[in-house]
Amino acid sequence: MKAACLAGIEKVTILERPAPEPGPGEVLVRVRTVGICGSDVHYFKSGRIGDQVIIPPFTIGHEAAGEVAKLGTGVTGLEAGQPVAIEPAIACGQCEVCQRGRPNLCAGVRFLGTPPIEGAYREYLVMPAANLFPLPKGLSLEEGALAEPLAVGLYAVNRARISPGETVAVFGCGPIGLSLILAARLAGAVVLAAEPLPARRAFALGIGADRVFDPQQTDPVAEIMKETGGRGVDAAFEAAGQPTALRQAIETAALGGRVVMVGIPAEDDWQIPSHLARRKELDLLNIRRSAFCAEKIIRLMESGRLKAAGLVTHRFRLEELARGLKLVAGYGDGVIKAVIEI
Ligand SMILES: [Zn+2]
Ligand SMILES: [Zn+2]
Repeated sequence: MKAACLAGIEKVTILERPAPEPGPGEVLVRVRTVGICGSDVHYFKSGRIGDQVIIPPFTIGHEAAGEVAKLGTGVTGLEAGQPVAIEPAIACGQCEVCQRGRPNLCAGVRFLGTPPIEGAYREYLVMPAANLFPLPKGLSLEEGALAEPLAVGLYAVNRARISPGETVAVFGCGPIGLSLILAARLAGAVVLAAEPLPARRAFALGIGADRVFDPQQTDPVAEIMKETGGRGVDAAFEAAGQPTALRQAIETAALGGRVVMVGIPAEDDWQIPSHLARRKELDLLNIRRSAFCAEKIIRLMESGRLKAAGLVTHRFRLEELARGLKLVAGYGDGVIKAVIEI
């Protein structure tokens, strides 16, 4: 099978590798669509995210959907040819956090495309059957591949306990910021957002953000304070991985509000305005990927409540992975979500 591997900083090479075989309880999947994630771009540009370092050649990619190709022994409820979305996290199931229902925090997790677990930019991969969610009729493989990033937004909105009538701010309207907006709207919140790129601002408005500010033209903090009568928002989401955006989230959160850190910063340390955060007694929430949300996303898409297919703006072949990663890294051509078709 063909596999696209990172061969060094900003280098991708296509290698021929043996297709894996499914063991007991596992399934071989013919990968069809893999979304390019901001975390893929981090690995492409710097070879690492924090202390997770890539040793080339290594295949990244984790936002995947495909078709069942072969069942390992003991697998029931799936059949060859069936389209499935893939949950990329394989938690150990045994440790304290797994037992407490927080498998996204499992220290022993194996996550597709995160060293040392090879990712999804290849023709075939093997996953435990429990990591596959059959796609209902009417949902595309692209929508299946979107389930993972959309799950992050839903998980963060659930973790922040957003309720109808609350007001939230979202700083950064990339795919994760947009997934936060979609989930916050479903939760019944009024959504204010900030984003410098015109195409993303337009998209945010199109999916139901109430106001979207351009931080290069106006001060989004002043605008959001004005919009909320000086009170600030119940919850502010940082979805840019930028120190400025985190500061703005803290500045716009209401007294006793929640600040939710969703973005992956390039730096190893965040700086926060400590006295402001302390006087407001803010709940500072970190988000680690997601848990139990991909299946909810699929249900929401199936029911028509969540329309997300439009997020995919660019499509590339496996051989064009480097082009796709560069486009996403440079925010070129109005890109929102680029996918690799295999
Ligand atoms: Zn992702
Ligand atoms: Zn565990």
